[in-house]
Amino acid sequence: MSENAFVVVHDRPYGAGVVAARALAEGEAVADLSECVIADAPSVYTIDVGGGRHIDGPQVRYLNHSCTPNVYVDAERMDVRALRPVAAGEELAFFYPSTEWDMVAPFDCLCGAADCLGTVAGARAASPQALRGHRLNRHVAERLAAVEAIRSA
Ligand SMILES: [Zn+2]
Repeated sequence: MSENAFVVVHDRPYGAGVVAARALAEGEAVADLSECVIADAPSVYTIDVGGGRHIDGPQVRYLNHSCTPNVYVDAERMDVRALRPVAAGEELAFFYPSTEWDMVAPFDCLCGAADCLGTVAGARAASPQALRGHRLNRHVAERLAAVEAIRSA
């Protein structure tokens, strides 16, 4: 992993974002999250890594959401990995419900993808169809399975 795999930019119409500083290979680790801090409370900047822990740090703060993500935040390995080859300059974005069960500040996604979530509010609020095909972290998948078990009981 290279230190300069990504760079934070502040030129997006929706605020800050993270772009690839160079071409990334599929599966490549883009950012190490082990030095992120555990936040006192979830915020618009934090990422839920399970066990009641919400991390914050320059590596994650400005990673935006996409319904067609090109990176995956891996809460077990504590890193961010490219889901496919990424071109230099392309914005890096992950699927927020892959880490977030609930979100403190839901928003309307304008990505325009055919399977766009619409309102992004975490996995709890997303339909099973919208989550299908997305890789989810274990802490999210376990909560989903628990909810589905109750629904089908
Ligand atoms: Zn979307």
